[in-house]
Amino acid sequence: MQVRRRVWCGAAVSAALLGAVTVPAAGAGPVATVVTPPTVSAVPEDDGVPYPRQEPLTEPPVNEDDQSYWRGAIPFHEIAPTLNAHMEASEYVSTEVVGQSTEGRDLYLVTITAPESAEESAQQDDWRDRIKHDAAAAQDDDALMAGYKPPIWFNNNIHGNEWDGTDAALSYIDELVEDLEAGDADAVALAENYRLYFTVSNNPDGRVAGTRATALNLDANRDFITNTTPETRIIRDLTGDLQPIFFVDIHGYTGNLQVEPTGPPQGENYEHDLLMPYSYAAALRIEQDVIDADIAGNPLTEDGGIIIPFRDIPDGWDGWPPIFTPQYVQFQGSIAYTVELGPGRSRAATLEEQLAENAERLATNREVGHQVIESTVAYVDENRDAILGNQMEIFRRGEAGLPLVEIPANPDPDEYEGPDEWAEEWDAADVTGTEFPRAYVIPAGSTDAATLVDHLIAHGVEVGVADADFSVGGEEYAAGSFVVDMHQPLRGLANVLLSDGADISDRVPSMYDISAWSLGRLWGAEVDRVGSTTDPALDVTTTPVAVAPPTGSFPDDADYVSLALDGVAAVQAVNLLLAAGVAVVDVGDGTVVVGPDGLEQAAALSELLGVAFTATDGRELAGDDVRGLSALRVGYTSSAPYGGEDELVLTGLGFVDPVRVTVEGLNDGSVDLEEIDVLWLGSRLRLGEDADAADDALEAYFDSGKGAVATADAGIWAAEEFELFEADVVTGPGRANGVVLVDTEDGVISAQAEDAAFAYGPAYFTELGDDVTVEQSYGTEPLLSGHWLPNGDGTGGPEQAGGQPSVISAVNADGARALVFGTDPFFRTHPRGMFDDVAAALLWAGPEGALIEPPVEEPTEEPTEEPTTPAPTEEPTTSEPTEEPTTAGPTVAPTTAPTDGPGSGRLPTTGADVWMLGVLTVLLAGAGGVLVARRRLTD
Ligand SMILES: [Zn+2]
Repeated sequence: MQVRRRVWCGAAVSAALLGAVTVPAAGAGPVATVVTPPTVSAVPEDDGVPYPRQEPLTEPPVNEDDQSYWRGAIPFHEIAPTLNAHMEASEYVSTEVVGQSTEGRDLYLVTITAPESAEESAQQDDWRDRIKHDAAAAQDDDALMAGYKPPIWFNNNIHGNEWDGTDAALSYIDELVEDLEAGDADAVALAENYRLYFTVSNNPDGRVAGTRATALNLDANRDFITNTTPETRIIRDLTGDLQPIFFVDIHGYTGNLQVEPTGPPQGENYEHDLLMPYSYAAALRIEQDVIDADIAGNPLTEDGGIIIPFRDIPDGWDGWPPIFTPQYVQFQGSIAYTVELGPGRSRAATLEEQLAENAERLATNREVGHQVIESTVAYVDENRDAILGNQMEIFRRGEAGLPLVEIPANPDPDEYEGPDEWAEEWDAADVTGTEFPRAYVIPAGSTDAATLVDHLIAHGVEVGVADADFSVGGEEYAAGSFVVDMHQPLRGLANVLLSDGADISDRVPSMYDISAWSLGRLWGAEVDRVGSTTDPALDVTTTPVAVAPPTGSFPDDADYVSLALDGVAAVQAVNLLLAAGVAVVDVGDGTVVVGPDGLEQAAALSELLGVAFTATDGRELAGDDVRGLSALRVGYTSSAPYGGEDELVLTGLGFVDPVRVTVEGLNDGSVDLEEIDVLWLGSRLRLGEDADAADDALEAYFDSGKGAVATADAGIWAAEEFELFEADVVTGPGRANGVVLVDTEDGVISAQAEDAAFAYGPAYFTELGDDVTVEQSYGTEPLLSGHWLPNGDGTGGPEQAGGQPSVISAVNADGARALVFGTDPFFRTHPRGMFDDVAAALLWAGPEGALIEPPVEEPTEEPTEEPTTPAPTEEPTTSEPTEEPTTAGPTVAPTTAPTDGPGSGRLPTTGADVWMLGVLTVLLAGAGGVLVARRRLTD
């Protein structure tokens, strides 16, 4: 559908004007998506493009290295020719390119539906829109109920090395097209009554490379509320565009076929009474069909069935976090499954045996997956009105703001519409629910607030701007504050994104993945929960927003400007200024100051990044705590293979070309620590027997007084290995995680830290040496939401962590600075509000940069004793830097020429002219990740 975006009266225009910045990583594609996800929301199109849509797909060149061959699966380059052939053969087949992967491969959306005129297609769009936004009327609209073609959507291969779903979908499409062209009455009826959608491969880069992760080294099926990967942004946008009533995400490999619904804990924001009855019944139907089909090579369980987590897995296969595709899509009122195909990758001894075994297993899974698709479609067709009606009811409840229907353990099925089998399986562990607030209020003004609002809008959440000042719950809010009224169709999604979540430590012994997240707590913006869903609307009118208004400002007449070093955008501004050779001075109160020589660049950045500079007289430059900042070349360690977050966040913060530090690189000299200013240790390095050179290099690095910022395990390792400081660490269970409350001391990160943080395997520090400073501690009862129990020996739980240090710092005798987090500021690029904590720590641990000459003091008004000399009373004694920086510019020369041409827009490192050119280059390079700049606020 070319996924067109409605032009929201000028929003798209301003988005275009705002421009985009990418900060490419060394040798990789544009990756700054972590900074600010795209802000132009996908909304249902309503201009009625007829079907079929048969623009031929571009066929990629043959790639003999495609790892699909190893599995015996269709290589990526053969998918487009296959689909092109289908389009030539049949008017029932449409294909569209709905976006590109990180490495630029096309993502294909196949639609099987009977031809539609433009009017018919527009009618479908209109009906779909009414189902969401006028659900009460849609429920009573006979024409809609009879004529709407409910969308059923199959997503495949989001994990690149789980190839088989793609082949299963293509197998189903092959057969259906054959039936359609043969005039099969059932097939034709299906195409006339439905739209069947297939995103054939959600992760083509991973498919080709044989990796689970995307080319950003992130797991896309953990990225659905953060959306750093383009692959998930496409699915997110399609979710709103297509509004499926049933969605299946096909994975592998769990030995036996596994079909959700999930086990407990059940997500607390879903309307389970409307989803679970048909969801479970459909799974049972699939099970029976797969048993009956008796597919060669497909194992069943010992009981002769498949695995249905809701029935068969008491804990550890939950649908709690909306980071997985189906758990995300379900907020569109869709029944949504993960399906795991059975037989996995061969581990046979020889390649030949592997190929043979894989081919057999692929063939089995293709047939099983084909059956799953066929059974799903058949089940939906048999229960169409009820399932569609339930989607409408979910939206209606949201719009009306009704309390969530909570289901007790072992419910009486007669009290719920639909099939009954589920009720017997719904026991105490499944009981869930939440109370929706009446609204969330987000005070405007900060870039973090604007980023959050744009992100909510991209998810389809409706956000308004208050037209006047108002008060609610005893708080006063200014006109312009953002209001998320929870009376809206996607209130479940809005709540799951913004709410604190819940402490579920007692609910189940273990969780499949994360158990807490919260954009409201972790994205740096103030978010206030207001009232209850049954309260009347807030006493203020609001205007819907399509993109958050600009936040930048710059004073007209100032010789010096000041900027609060708080938030991702402020860090970017500082790093870009430093990279441009502009002196930036930290004046010790959480702000930085730029002098007369940098005003032009600062003004441009205020507009580009939406940061607010204020005028200052520059006298703070003469203070005792001033410290010149320097452009940092950051070296980093990372836990492969899913360690994309370290590089992505550093790059997204504007640190130019961070260098990955590995034992191998240090040993063979390809990584030179002399070119590194400061280290981010995302993981420890394994300095084994053959790592003398690496060990020596690190020893020399720290001996020279250079510093590091680190996660707990890596930081304590480095501290011991290189005598940085003395401390022990206590770590909770490795999979414990959650949103934790923290108290920050006046120190390195006090201007940046929020009162909540994210921790995965939370750690606290004990036995601190005399030279160690506590920067931050866990609150007395630290776990706000998540799953965190003590270790078996009673240590490492939230109770034990209460009041203990969560972040520490030290400076050793060599002058090496270190700061270590017991929390996880970069976790999967999610806790944006913590990124600036790390940036502040890196700037502190890195070398000093140039200072700025304070203004010459004006004569004081008090007459001096010798009135004949009207000169300044004295030269400011503190005007000279305490430590002479060697250069006024960035301390790091680029090691590679910044001229890789379009698409790799490297940030230049010297000179204002080059800098301006560089900004343009960066702007022009903005094909991939987008950092939307907010234009200067003009008043
Ligand atoms: Zn998977």
